[in-house]
Amino acid sequence: MSDKRDYYDVLEVSRDADEKELKKAFRSLARKYHPDKNDSPDADEKFKEIQEAYAVLSDQDKRRNYDRFGHNAPGGSPFGPGGFQGFNINLDDILGGDFFSNIFGGGRRRSTQRQGHDILVRHNISIETVLNGGKEEIEADLPIVCADCNGSGAKDGITETCSDCGGAGQVRVRQQIGPFLQDSVSPCRTCNGSGQIAKSRCKTCAGDGVISENQTLRFDVPKGANDGLRLRMRGKGHPAPYGKGISGDLFIELIVDEHPWFERNGMDLIMSLPLSFRDLAMGAEIKIPHIDGNTLSIKVPSGTNSGDTITIPGRGLPSNRGVGRGDIVILCKLFMPKKIDKATKKILESISQELNGKKDIVDKIIEDAEERRN
Ligand SMILES: [Zn+2]
Ligand SMILES: [Zn+2]
Repeated sequence: MSDKRDYYDVLEVSRDADEKELKKAFRSLARKYHPDKNDSPDADEKFKEIQEAYAVLSDQDKRRNYDRFGHNAPGGSPFGPGGFQGFNINLDDILGGDFFSNIFGGGRRRSTQRQGHDILVRHNISIETVLNGGKEEIEADLPIVCADCNGSGAKDGITETCSDCGGAGQVRVRQQIGPFLQDSVSPCRTCNGSGQIAKSRCKTCAGDGVISENQTLRFDVPKGANDGLRLRMRGKGHPAPYGKGISGDLFIELIVDEHPWFERNGMDLIMSLPLSFRDLAMGAEIKIPHIDGNTLSIKVPSGTNSGDTITIPGRGLPSNRGVGRGDIVILCKLFMPKKIDKATKKILESISQELNGKKDIVDKIIEDAEERRN
C-alpha cells in the first residue's frame, strides 16, 4: 500500500486545490496519458492512477477521508471508504464530446471531400466475451445510398445545374464587419452546396438520396476489450450528401455487462467474500465457479482479518495488448448474521472472554493503530 503515490502528487496540484483546479489538472493529464493517444507502455497504468486520484479527490467525503488517513483509511484500505464500486467517471463529460471523435477521426478527413456523418451504436457484451474474445452481431436499420437515384435525390437521377451558383455549389458573400468589407465563401442555399438540383424528386427516397436498410453487422470483439471501447466500421455510416463524397463511419461502442460479483479494475477482477468468524479464525477453502469455466479455489489462511485481501494471480482478464492475464483480488469480510438465536447467544457469551483476546481495550486500540501505521 505504502508505495502508492500521493493523489495530489499524481494530479500535480496543491493540497488546497479547489474543484475547478482538480478538474483542469485531470483533464490535461487524462488527455496526455489516455492509452488511445499515448503509446508508451506505462500509459495504461498512469491513466488508471490519474483516474483513481481524481475519483477520490473530486468526491468531498472521500477527499476528507483521504486527507485524514491517506491511503490507509481504516476498514477500506485498497478500495477507498465508499468501498468497491470502482471508478465511475464519465470521460466524455469531463473531456468534452470531441475528445473521442478526435482520436478516432484524427487525420482522416480530407477537407475537399464531403463526408457523411458517423453513426454510433451501443452493444452489450458479457465479461466472458472480454475473457475469450468472440464474434458478435448487431441487427440495425442503417442509412444507405438510394440506388434508384444514386443518392442525388432526383427522379431517375436526372439533375440540372443550379442557376444560383452556376454549379459551383458555393457562393461568394460580401459582409460588412465594422469598417471592413469581407468576402467569404459559403455553400449555396438553393442546391445545398451540391451544384445540382433535381428536376423532380425521387419517389423511393423522397428526395433524401438515402434510404434505410435492415442490416446484420458481424464483428470480432478483441480479448480484454474495455468497457466503452469503440470499434470502427469504415464507410458504414451515413452516406455523403447527394451521394457525392464518402460515407461516414459506424462506431460500435461496447458495454460490458455487470457481473453478479466481480468488479473490473483494468485486467484485475475484484470481489468481496463474506466469511464466518470461524472461517476467518481457523482458515477455510472456498470453491466457487469462475468465468473461465474452471473452479476458483480460494484458500483463506487461519487468522485472516476482515478487510484483508487474497490475490490469485493469472485468473483475471487478458490484457488488450495480447499478453498475460490479470489477477483476482478478494476482499475478505466478516459475515454478520442478521439474527442470532438464543442457543448461539449462550455459546458466544461462554467464549466471549476468549474472543476478546484477554487484553485491555486500550492496549488493543494501540496495537491496532500501530499495525495500521506500519
Ligand atoms: Zn432516391
Ligand atoms: Zn447552387
